[in-house]
Amino acid sequence: MKKIFLQLIILSLSVTLMGQTKTKTQNIILVTIDGFRWQELFNGADSSFIHNKQLVKNPDKCDKKYWNDNLSERRKALLPFIWGTVAAQGQIYGNRTKGCFVNVKNPYWFSFPGYNEILTGFADVRVNSNEFGPNPNVGVFEMMNKSAEFNGRIATFASWDAFNDILNEKRSGLMVNSGFEKIKGIDNDNKIEVLNNIQTELPDIFDGVRLDGVTFNMGFEYLKVKNPRILYLAFDETDDFAHGGKYSDYLNSAHYTDDFLNQLWNWVQSNPVYKDKTTMLITCDHGRGEGPVEWRSHGSKTAHSDQTWFAVIGPDTPTMGEMTEGQYYNNQYAKTMAALLGFDYQNENPVGQAIDMVLGKKMGEK
Ligand SMILES: [Zn+2]
Repeated sequence: MKKIFLQLIILSLSVTLMGQTKTKTQNIILVTIDGFRWQELFNGADSSFIHNKQLVKNPDKCDKKYWNDNLSERRKALLPFIWGTVAAQGQIYGNRTKGCFVNVKNPYWFSFPGYNEILTGFADVRVNSNEFGPNPNVGVFEMMNKSAEFNGRIATFASWDAFNDILNEKRSGLMVNSGFEKIKGIDNDNKIEVLNNIQTELPDIFDGVRLDGVTFNMGFEYLKVKNPRILYLAFDETDDFAHGGKYSDYLNSAHYTDDFLNQLWNWVQSNPVYKDKTTMLITCDHGRGEGPVEWRSHGSKTAHSDQTWFAVIGPDTPTMGEMTEGQYYNNQYAKTMAALLGFDYQNENPVGQAIDMVLGKKMGEK
């Protein structure tokens, strides 16, 4: 009897302690930029790629736009928001030349397994195809969607239509708008009406993948109108342009995606619902090869394409800028996002640990 009583005290004590883990973050914006390399993130445009006629049609134009002999100016020319605002107020991980490493844990190094890992917090060897179908795994958003606080307040906008399966929309009940789906349920909104129509009035250059500009504007308008607690924007063009060997388009896409982030963050920080209560996490699903030929590809046969990166800005994340040590994995984001919102995310499979530094904790601190 005494023993049970003592256990009850311990139990209630630990519950209280868990409840005391207060964070400032109340909303999460997750952004993925498909197959965008750490090499361009940290070094800016590659001069040998720019002047490779196979990869860039108009080298002078590309050079003028993105080249600078000074590395920090060069990467800022490509990604002004990341190297301005995020570097000054957040944390950026994955510069291998400076000693900070980020990798995927899954053995495949392509998209569906990569997104499964980001969203569930573990690599699943069964998930081995981009046409895998409905994901059997329950991820962090689906679990959050079961809580009263977050139910119906999580939205995904994705350019690639596989996201309905990656997030198993049917089972999870999560709102997933991908491919060329129209936004339903918001009436008398001119912007949404235009976006719903224009997505099928543009060239279908990636064969079934929506252009990122449409995905972004849809997600941004939804954020303004519906105020979701979690918004996930999954962009795709960087991967498709790279597969097509179009380096200047790949750079241009990364450049205007950086501006999407800038627009989002400026709006978030000027809106009382979100200001100083929102964390934005930006990452990718896989890396790419290194040389001018290998860069076009990724997958387990392409060396280095398991190498990734991530960047974070938000009220719980201390300003540290470019990180210069540590080994991190894409399986850590799920638990980190939950922890930022004050939840402890567990799964029947072991998940990657929350990233202490993002939460403003020293290593191992509770
Ligand atoms: Zn790809």
